[in-house]
Amino acid sequence: AQEVTKPHIAVLSTPGIGNLVPLLEFAKHLVIHHNVHVSFLVINTEAPTMQHRLLNSATLPTHLQVVNLPPVDVTSFVNDNMDVLTRVSYICQESLKPLRATLIELNLPKALIIDIFTTDAFLICKELGIPVYSFFTSPTKFLALSLCLPKLDKEIECEYVDLPEVQVPGCKPVRTDDLVEHLLNRKDEEYRCFLRHVSRLTMAAGVFVNTWDDLELKSSWFNGIKNDPFYKTLPAPPVYPVGPLIKRDEAVTEPDEYIISWLNNQSPNSVLLVSLGSGGTLTTEQLTELAWGLEMSKQKFILVVRKPNDFSACGTFFDAGSDGEDPESYLPEGFVKRTAEVGLVVPSWAPQVPILRHEAVGGFLSHCGWNSILESIVNGVPMIAWPLYAEQKMNATLLTEEIAVAVKPIEVSREVRGKKLVKREEIERVVKLLIGGEEGKAMRGKANELKESASKALKFGGSSYDLISSVVESWK
Ligand code: UDP
Repeated sequence: AQEVTKPHIAVLSTPGIGNLVPLLEFAKHLVIHHNVHVSFLVINTEAPTMQHRLLNSATLPTHLQVVNLPPVDVTSFVNDNMDVLTRVSYICQESLKPLRATLIELNLPKALIIDIFTTDAFLICKELGIPVYSFFTSPTKFLALSLCLPKLDKEIECEYVDLPEVQVPGCKPVRTDDLVEHLLNRKDEEYRCFLRHVSRLTMAAGVFVNTWDDLELKSSWFNGIKNDPFYKTLPAPPVYPVGPLIKRDEAVTEPDEYIISWLNNQSPNSVLLVSLGSGGTLTTEQLTELAWGLEMSKQKFILVVRKPNDFSACGTFFDAGSDGEDPESYLPEGFVKRTAEVGLVVPSWAPQVPILRHEAVGGFLSHCGWNSILESIVNGVPMIAWPLYAEQKMNATLLTEEIAVAVKPIEVSREVRGKKLVKREEIERVVKLLIGGEEGKAMRGKANELKESASKALKFGGSSYDLISSVVESWK
């Protein structure tokens, strides 16, 4: 009889590890803790190494069923010169053509949960009478900006970057320096595409955000979105902070065991993890500075490293985790040998959550992807904020200036190519400050406080747990 009362819903993730990870965790959470049956719809990517690895792991619960949408051929309108956002958006648009039929085949689930680039689903589901929820994989402050973007687009005539700052109702203004890259040029296709997707957020039955009350409560963002008159005038959906949904049961596979063995021989809080998410890449010059800075700091480290890319800061977005070249071929000559006693160089991909959970890890140099931030905070690890793409600059400001769990290295502008660079001496300074210094200790203390509140949020009776329960009730 219980099976009859189990509501069946569908979850649809866009390609890209940063979305797949939290949506899959949300789906698992619904199945395990809220007695929901989930059909997890997957869009097939061009180079799905890591996607397959995540979905094929033995950790999926029984009532989570993976449904592959038919693969689509996008070669005629997607090319390597397109920016990531537009390319993902096209892939999603094509892949969603059979969504209607799939949902009918699945006997019309009670609800569909989507993320930011699959908003065509709103139109398809309206016709089928299925309520659609959006799952927002970035912090509330970025959601606030996204919800008011259509208004900004109407009211502001110049480029946003030419403003002194961008006013977001109910929130602290966003520095133009921190703006998401797809808001930098309003004539770009990338901007129009982003605007189209966020404009549709008002069609959602609700927006789940991967955050929790205590994390963003003090920042005016969360209160802003709840209480500001602007959002009350929008047909804005209710916003539910349901996080932190992060990978919890990630197993260390045999080839990676040496990393954990190495950590077992280090003292508590002594190691810095350096990792730039699933797609992050540095320029040749910046990678050289980073390596030298790490070496000069004389601190212990794990460096997860990829071949430098002088053109894109997210050079491995579409082939995360694929094997690359031997790091010795692109790191400074002799670096691996000279640092063998203090550091571990891991090519391309490492089991990030088990590493962050290890007591030897005392800091994380991160590109500030929202999943990485949550994984760090949930494990009480303070950060060096090294934003690269998407909304990461805003996240870095949130971490350093509002939550106070991170330090951001100072960049210098270079006349030659107009790009900014963090010099090796600055890297040495922030690494020492975070791992050995008093400031690092204070940030670790703050991260540990948040770790406590994070562990309560998703447990029975916690703020996130209760909000999820109330929504699940409405699906019955
Ligand atoms: N990740 C990992 N090992 C790596 C790099 C990334 O396990 O070597 C995982 C990380 O734990 C996180 C996700 O990939 O769950 C990256 O998401 P995030 O939002 O931090 O960044 P994105 O890749 O979307 O830029």
